[in-house]
Amino acid sequence: NKDNPEAAEQFKEVNEAYEVLSDKDKRAKYDQFGFAGVDPSYGGAGGFDGSFADFGDLGDIFGSFFGGFGSGRSSRRNAPQRGESIHRNIILSFEEAAFGCEKELSIERIETCDECGGTGAAPGTSAETCANCRGTGTVTQTQRTPLGMFQTQAACPNCRGTGKIIKKPCSKCGGAGRVRKTRKFKVNIPAGIDEGQSIQQRGQGSAGVNGGPAGDLIVTVSIRPHPIFTRKGQDVLIDIPISFAQAALGDTLQVPTVDGRVEYKIPEGTQTGTMFRMKGKGIQNVNGRGRGDQFVRVNIEVPKHLSDKQKKLLREFEDSATDTNQSQRKSFWDKVKDAFSER
Ligand SMILES: [Zn+2]
Ligand SMILES: [Zn+2]
Repeated sequence: NKDNPEAAEQFKEVNEAYEVLSDKDKRAKYDQFGFAGVDPSYGGAGGFDGSFADFGDLGDIFGSFFGGFGSGRSSRRNAPQRGESIHRNIILSFEEAAFGCEKELSIERIETCDECGGTGAAPGTSAETCANCRGTGTVTQTQRTPLGMFQTQAACPNCRGTGKIIKKPCSKCGGAGRVRKTRKFKVNIPAGIDEGQSIQQRGQGSAGVNGGPAGDLIVTVSIRPHPIFTRKGQDVLIDIPISFAQAALGDTLQVPTVDGRVEYKIPEGTQTGTMFRMKGKGIQNVNGRGRGDQFVRVNIEVPKHLSDKQKKLLREFEDSATDTNQSQRKSFWDKVKDAFSER
């Protein structure tokens, strides 16, 4: 990709790696000093800097350098290693999840020491390549046994596998090159996020080792139950108690929705448990497209603690009721009569 300066840069780096591979002298230098040994622009002892992980193929090329080491990178202690990812859970209110929000998190992570730039050496000094292992961090031990010669790879005891000797350690990190730090993070929670979903912030976890990439910050969401709304994906369910009279006569309800109250007309003769659907009144899709629906279930609340006057009125109503008023009741008792041959 000629038009992308980043891609061009990466291509240049890959080319350099091939050059190193094909040039014996350069390769020997590389084995000792990393890129710093062959390319003067790679100053300091850091070697790869943070961009190592972006070159997957380059990793394989390096793997061929160290072919004799088996799985290579993982067995070498001075190999680039990805930093740890940090997992956090946050609890959101129903509204925060529905509409999105910004949350501040306090995260403890491991960062590259800013005093020494991760080298572990005091400012003004630099880490030296370990002479014992020539910077590889690994030594080969040959054992003569009755079965033959055995070669084993072990971490270099001189540098404890780091490939470097720090004469004067950085006072801030004690030579580790990394420090533990607590940082405040603002995390943008998108509208419509659901229970159990995660937001991944790439590279915001702990710093990598030996130029490896940083880990990620992964924030997983749980949602506190709402007193009246129940969420099912992008849909919202609400139960509304209504009176017998509202159900029988029909009524206009002021239905709470995530957008506030919305008028909704229920028809005459609405039965208890009927579910109405308010299209598009649910929660926004987390990907930004469309909204769910709100489902309204009405439940008839049978009145209690009636006054004498109310009882009298209801008895009058009941006496006036006909079979067409209560068709279910009529057909039920008709079935009973049929079933038990009471006719
Ligand atoms: Zn330091
Ligand atoms: Zn060593």
